[in-house]
Amino acid sequence: MTVPALWYPTDKCFVDGGWVDPASGETLPLENPSTGAQIGRIARGGKADIDAAVAAAQAARHGEWARLPAFERGRLLTHMGRLVLTHVDALAEIEAADVGKPLKQARADAVALARYLEFYGGAADKIHGETIPYLDGYTVYTLREPHGVTGHIVPWNYPMQIIGRSVGAALAMGNCCVLKPAEEACLTALAFAAIADEAGFPKGVINVVPGLGEEAGAALSEHPGVHHISFTGSVPVGTLIQRAAASNVIPVTLELGGKSPQLVFEDADLDAALPFLVNAGIQNAGQTCSASSRLLVHRPIHDQLLERLAARYEGLRVGPASADLDVGPLISAQQKSIVSGFLARGADLEVAARGKIIDTAPVGGHYIAPVLLAGVAPDHALARDEIFGPVQVVIPFDDEDEAIAIANSTDFGLVASVWTSNGARQMRAAKAIHAGQVFINNYGAGGGVELPFGGVGKSGHGREKGFEALYGFSTLKTVAALHG
Ligand code: NAP
Ligand code: MG
Repeated sequence: MTVPALWYPTDKCFVDGGWVDPASGETLPLENPSTGAQIGRIARGGKADIDAAVAAAQAARHGEWARLPAFERGRLLTHMGRLVLTHVDALAEIEAADVGKPLKQARADAVALARYLEFYGGAADKIHGETIPYLDGYTVYTLREPHGVTGHIVPWNYPMQIIGRSVGAALAMGNCCVLKPAEEACLTALAFAAIADEAGFPKGVINVVPGLGEEAGAALSEHPGVHHISFTGSVPVGTLIQRAAASNVIPVTLELGGKSPQLVFEDADLDAALPFLVNAGIQNAGQTCSASSRLLVHRPIHDQLLERLAARYEGLRVGPASADLDVGPLISAQQKSIVSGFLARGADLEVAARGKIIDTAPVGGHYIAPVLLAGVAPDHALARDEIFGPVQVVIPFDDEDEAIAIANSTDFGLVASVWTSNGARQMRAAKAIHAGQVFINNYGAGGGVELPFGGVGKSGHGREKGFEALYGFSTLKTVAALHG
């Protein structure tokens, strides 16, 4: 698969409303993970480019953008959402070539990006302060104001969705944004800039600087001109981001992945559960922060369910993004070696089933056949650590208390689901599980943009998506007038 015709430059930064070469003059290669072939080059942005982008955002926040009524900001976002919809096919092809996402999944990401822009476009003028009854002679009210310049550091697994949810919400609140995409997944981030430009955003409101994490990413997270950082990625880098933010005393939103469980009780509707149980683990080749990598199964139905899960796994097909199968390649040779390393550490475990890499899959692609591991102890490394590949472990349990204890036994707490027809158990489990989202008799709820999302524990803190994100991307001022 080659990259489709692009209508914007891919080897430049988008700063202050224009396409500019990186100060280094250097570029980095882009790889197609389905084939291993080089398909282009991106700018190697660094500190100087981040300085320019932050300066542009600083200027923009005091310019016409600051005076634009909230409904006009919303209108721009909604208009941009409509433009994204006209580019869905191209965006899907670009993402498929750049990150190896099967075309249907890439298309869903592009449609989700449009939904985020529409949602936050509609929300922009519906969030406001309050009046507070206070002492006689006072009038007190609150103003909800933008932070100013927001930095967005996003990973390669769902670039369009993560840009939509974080940059979309930040813009709705009137911030000016500097976006640093992952070096493996810059093309749709640059398309985002091109479409924003087409939509008519004032210059400097949206800036995109591709480059390496330790160069452009670190420069952005340490920049004293940035007022808020939104980061999605790994725990070690999230820790660095929070440390850098602490030195500038600015707030951060961290979304750091998980080890999300699905609890399946003996009274669950297994026909309904089965597709969710597997899809939640293998979608995007398991490279999903909210992937369900642990299946906790009530012992009375364990053997029966394992057999049905295994049958489903045997039918999974893996191949290039263009073949649009169940599973595509991993993002890189490095990610494949991380996942292979985990599988080597699980060599003592029982392989219940594997999917199949199709014979025609290009040899240079980074493929791993999905693996279902059975009889896994809850304290095994593969039951505790985030693998970020198409691997699920099945852990048996005897009763509800044990299921909850296992569910809560990792450092993470992003999402979880409970499969049971017992209403009281549904309510008890939803309260007892440590997670930012709990699903009952489903997993993911279709990913709705309206649903606040984020973690507890090492899954991070702060919430994106829904109205809740708008509070995170704004600050509250209290005004108390003494008028007698
Ligand atoms: P990562 O290193 O945390 O990268 C996430 C983002 O942070 C990328 O844009 C990256 O840029 C940037 N970055 C890297 N080092 C930085 C630094 N020192 N300062 C500022 N920004 C920096 O994640 P990864 O290496 O892509 O993936 C490794 C593991 O992270 C995965 O195996 C998975 O466990 C986890 N992960 C989680 C999520 C999630 O959705 N929660 C997403 C991706 C990965 P560059 O990529 O350009 O270096
Ligand atoms: Mg790529």
